[in-house]
Amino acid sequence: MKSIQDLPRVSLGIYPTPFYRLDKLSEQYGRGIWIKRDDLCGVALGGNKVRKLEFLLAEALDQGCDTVFTTGGAQSNHAALTAACAARLGMKCILLLKRRGVTEHRGNLVLDDIFGAEVRLLDTDSYDDVYAEMHRIGATLEQAGHKCCYIPVGGSTALGALGYASCVREFTVQALAAGVRLGHVVSATGSGGTTAGLLLGTRLFMPGAKVTGVAVDTDPFQDIVPRLAEEAAALLERTLPREKDDFRMVDHVGPGYAVPNPEDTPYIEELARTEGILLDPVYTGKAFAAMMQMLRQGEFDGEDDLLFLHTGGAAALFAMDLPR
Ligand SMILES: *Cc1c(COP(=O)(O)O)cnc(C)c1O
Repeated sequence: MKSIQDLPRVSLGIYPTPFYRLDKLSEQYGRGIWIKRDDLCGVALGGNKVRKLEFLLAEALDQGCDTVFTTGGAQSNHAALTAACAARLGMKCILLLKRRGVTEHRGNLVLDDIFGAEVRLLDTDSYDDVYAEMHRIGATLEQAGHKCCYIPVGGSTALGALGYASCVREFTVQALAAGVRLGHVVSATGSGGTTAGLLLGTRLFMPGAKVTGVAVDTDPFQDIVPRLAEEAAALLERTLPREKDDFRMVDHVGPGYAVPNPEDTPYIEELARTEGILLDPVYTGKAFAAMMQMLRQGEFDGEDDLLFLHTGGAAALFAMDLPR
């Protein structure tokens, strides 16, 4: 058996990120609600992709790579953070992004340029097409003597997921110091790696705590997440020790992936106006709205407190309006 610290990792974020109780909100809802601020991880505008990239880029460096490819939607937070982290490590970053009707140069597209990434917008809706194009460009670069690494959408590989098992380890220590027992951990699920890491991490470090993934896209996460968690466990030469009801997915896609839902706007405003915290309309706003609705409906069993994982995403606020 291995522990997470045995795996190669490059330091990119500033950890531990803040962990604290949302006092006003907890009082209003009559239940202890805590937040883990991975939006404040110290790279660009922050976000969950940095913990994954610490493992993914360590592997790339070990393999002698000098060029990093990744993909996502035009406003991908993962792409912008990969650009930031690659720049920091002196690697070239090439982003193949799905255009999907996006024409405005705002939000993360601005950040991609600032970080010096090469951006190519592709007119396809299929990631198979994107990966084919990625490997085609990569093959040409390899012939010219470069070594390329290819990070899939969201960095959601088993290795990337370990970033979030490691995050659980981090907030287990913070929760212990604060004297709080966490019964539920809630996070947005977009490609599955974060939720998979939370599932593995809670099984290893916080047994009894349950994971709720809020789907902001339509993929079959009920299968994807446990499978990724098992693969991540295998990297530690372990099997995933499942418990009854340790994980559930709830759907909160609304009108579609990356399409803001008017119903979520009051929740985004509520957290901003009670606690001074920004959520985005694509990921964290949807996840937080779903969590608060479920809390009202009594869907978090037990008495133990809840933890909301803030996964970042603020750049979207500069790329789209909040609908009403
Ligand atoms: C990518 C992302 C998520 C989803 O994480 P996955 O590991 O892809 O499921 C959640 N929030 C924000 C802000 C993101 O950028």
